[in-house]
Amino acid sequence: MTKMKTSVAIATAMAVALTAASADAIDLGGALKSGTDAAKGLSLSDDDVRSIADQACEWSDAHNTIAPPSDTYAKRLQKLTAGLANEDGIRLNFKVYLVRDVNAFAMANGCVRVMAGLMDIAGDGEIRAVIGHEIGHAKLGHTKAKMRTALMAGAAREGVAASGGKAGAIAASELGGLAEAFVNAQFSQKEESAADEYGYAFMRKHGYDPHAMVTMLRKLPAGGGLLSSHPSSPDRAKKIEALVRKG
Ligand SMILES: [Zn+2]
Repeated sequence: MTKMKTSVAIATAMAVALTAASADAIDLGGALKSGTDAAKGLSLSDDDVRSIADQACEWSDAHNTIAPPSDTYAKRLQKLTAGLANEDGIRLNFKVYLVRDVNAFAMANGCVRVMAGLMDIAGDGEIRAVIGHEIGHAKLGHTKAKMRTALMAGAAREGVAASGGKAGAIAASELGGLAEAFVNAQFSQKEESAADEYGYAFMRKHGYDPHAMVTMLRKLPAGGGLLSSHPSSPDRAKKIEALVRKG
């Protein structure tokens, strides 16, 4: 790969959503019942979360370069995720984005995307560790909270409360923001630790070497990519290392 772009969600953030095709319209009808809901707080059922994640994933896939099945990155990811079809009630599907970001994300609908930039610096076990960690964010409700925040922000921007709940109108223009909420999610220290522990258990469960979680955390570059959303990795590495020692 000679020239890779940064992922679209990272490069253009929310602005791109405004020019997104209306065919991408997300149906928030069920999720965003009225302007009043948007003002008070948004309650999202598991079905809402999955349906919105489906559409955010689709948007993200349509706006990034996906490695075709014949691509070296795609083949490698397929090989190292062999046997990972269902995880903790989520049906997983994997794709590589041909972007240089050191990043990955997972959604509650099983959409797992790994950036080529991460695969360039990580061993197979380390990539699995990141995947387990990201699934943790989805299973533990962290991504749902980000989704809710993005929907609320979108509703506020579009003046839904004032105009009586034009959910359809929000939809088309806010999809990029929703995708961004997954790709560049900023999690708290507590959430990161919880996802690390989930990832550690994931490694154990599948018989992968859990120490790969430790080496991955040590490998994360300072600043940008995975680290900006995953702070203080040396401390986190120590925590997981202690778990590995205990067995
Ligand atoms: Zn994380």
